[in-house]
Amino acid sequence: MLDGLDPEQREVALALNGPVCVLAGAGTGKTRALTHRIAYGVRAGILQPASVLAVTFTNRAAGEMRGRLRQLGAGGVQARTFHSAALRQLQFFWPKAVGGELPRLLERKVQLVAEAAARCRIRLDRNELRDVTGEIEWAKVTQTVPADYPAVVAKSLRDAPRDPAEIGQIYAMYEQLKRDRSVIDFEDVLLLTVGILQDRHDIADQIRRQYQHFVVDEYQDVSPLQQRLLDLWLGDRDNLCVVGDAGQTIYSFTGATPDHLLNFRTRHPGATVVKLVRDYRSTPQVVHLANGLLGQARGRAAEHRLELISQRDPGPEPVYTEYADEPAEAEGTARRIRDLIAAGVPAGEIAVLYRINAQSEVYEQALADAGVPYQLRGAERFFERQEVREAGVALRGAARAGGNDPLLDDSEDLPAQVRAVLSTKGWTTEPPAGSGAVRDRWESLAALVRLAEDFARAKPGATLSDLVAELDERAAAQHAPTVQGVTLASLHAAKGLEWDAVFLVGLTEGMLPITYAKTDEQIEEERRLLYVGVTRARVHLTLSWALSRSPGGRANRRPSRFLQGLRPGSGSLGPVGSGGASGSVERGSGLRRRGPRGPVLCRVCGATLTEAGAMKLMRCEDCPSDMDEGLYERLRDWRSEQARQLGQPAYCVFTDKTLMAIAERVPATDGELASISGVGVRKLDRFGAAVLAICAGEEGGTDGDED
Ligand code: ATP
Ligand code: MG
Repeated sequence: MLDGLDPEQREVALALNGPVCVLAGAGTGKTRALTHRIAYGVRAGILQPASVLAVTFTNRAAGEMRGRLRQLGAGGVQARTFHSAALRQLQFFWPKAVGGELPRLLERKVQLVAEAAARCRIRLDRNELRDVTGEIEWAKVTQTVPADYPAVVAKSLRDAPRDPAEIGQIYAMYEQLKRDRSVIDFEDVLLLTVGILQDRHDIADQIRRQYQHFVVDEYQDVSPLQQRLLDLWLGDRDNLCVVGDAGQTIYSFTGATPDHLLNFRTRHPGATVVKLVRDYRSTPQVVHLANGLLGQARGRAAEHRLELISQRDPGPEPVYTEYADEPAEAEGTARRIRDLIAAGVPAGEIAVLYRINAQSEVYEQALADAGVPYQLRGAERFFERQEVREAGVALRGAARAGGNDPLLDDSEDLPAQVRAVLSTKGWTTEPPAGSGAVRDRWESLAALVRLAEDFARAKPGATLSDLVAELDERAAAQHAPTVQGVTLASLHAAKGLEWDAVFLVGLTEGMLPITYAKTDEQIEEERRLLYVGVTRARVHLTLSWALSRSPGGRANRRPSRFLQGLRPGSGSLGPVGSGGASGSVERGSGLRRRGPRGPVLCRVCGATLTEAGAMKLMRCEDCPSDMDEGLYERLRDWRSEQARQLGQPAYCVFTDKTLMAIAERVPATDGELASISGVGVRKLDRFGAAVLAICAGEEGGTDGDED
């Protein structure tokens, strides 16, 4: 167990009693030291698995931790988020502490906040609504009650999105509405648990008897409320091990602060403090950039920075690419990803990371157009998703009914049976058009179908009941089916994770730092966000930005200030081992094979188009379509057949939007077909003749080349 650790990491693993604090940069093996420490203690018989509580911040990270613990032979240890640990305790103790059932948990606040604002006769637009909701969350995790909110804002020099008195009013009304409807929100889970542990010594004692050892990963992002809960769990004991990197603090906007990490020694004078500097994750090239970025950081977190030293063999230099516009950036990224996959990098080892979720759409489209599979969300809580739970119930019912289920044909193989059952839950052979909730739901069901296919392949002759048992086991182990696709994720969601190849996209002023980051602290947090992104890459790292939003638009964007001095040609830092800046920024824009430039106008109403989907259709999405429906149907049939032959999802042949655009424009020549977005050079070679034949009315068309 200890062999896989370096001397400092081993020190962490061996310090099983008393407070321990690990302060270290990205990729230095903090999470590894922490999981090995638990596993070592359990296997050596020093720690009782059930007496250990490991906490982290995202469901995905908690799942990852459980996986690592299981592999190390310490599967019985609880690894949870603060929230899920608290929720479990709350559910358990509520009847005793309060009586009755725990109120329902509100999934999303926004709607109720909107209602509260309306009752207060305060009009909020969509952005204000989002910001006010964020303020309420901040107030709650900093344990500020509505009446105190305006004063606390004034004191903390906080930049409130509206008049603080108004926000205080909305906040109070929101709390009132929750009480009236007997619901609680995400923060209430922690607040109520803290309340119960404070008031009820018998319950606090019971929890303390159960948990003797606590470990916290990503401790730099602990909020005051979470810290309060941790203190209550601990009581007067100090069997606590925390690990973190102040340089990766990215949740201060929610009230989190690295102070608890940095002041750990002061609070626990006897603490063992360990620093790790060997970076096992990334190549010297990636580490060099990470160090350079951190070198420019300011503020308290930055004072504690540690220069990372890569332990890996050298790899390629980070690539910087400037594109003319966003769709070009997405297409260029997709092309590079395809090349990497062709060169042997598995799709599951590649990630595209962006600042805000809304940026995903254009990348989804570009990857789909390039025939690259992708997954939009992480594997977190797969089995907890509504649609997956519903699918589980349906599969279980069908398995129980055995041969008596009218839906099922016993002579069919397992995957076919699963497809039949899931089609009652919304699964279809082809994905629904567009992104959003419907698509998310479909992706989950499709992942279950893939899981059934893999399972049947691994266990020929397996029955539906066997599959249901397998699903239960996986759900218990929180093991989502591995989706072998490129990950699309926000920088926040990427925390703690790693990939062979990482694409950091949209690195412009206004996006990173994001427009609403105004104060110095907010700007520093944005810089740390980029640091988190850079340090996710093991080998390949690509940083890109686009000068305008849409093709032909004004090139009024500038690359992120954080790249100043780091990207070649902008200052002093060059490649590893070189004295100064060298190399160059690639120009991705010239790669675009598209007709003459100019704004893309709607074919129907003439408006300038800005949305990716609309640009693809070359008309506003709600302008009437002049599509030849019959042709569209014929193209879809042809696509289904192609997809079947290639063994790929249909959208890898052409997306619905591209097919629609083809059916609207009815191209007669290669050139006309190529001018449609989503028809790249490769697809033109492969499918061009067939598509043109269908458009020309030659029934069925000819088959595309098999290659
Ligand atoms: P982050 O700050 O991003 O959360 P971290 O410090 O938690 O990073 P880990 O994820 O634990 O880092 O480790 C980074 C990578 O380095 C992992 O792939 C891990 O397995 C590997 N690694 C860590 N320590 C060692 C070691 N001593 N020997 C070999 N590989 C190691
Ligand atoms: Mg980690």
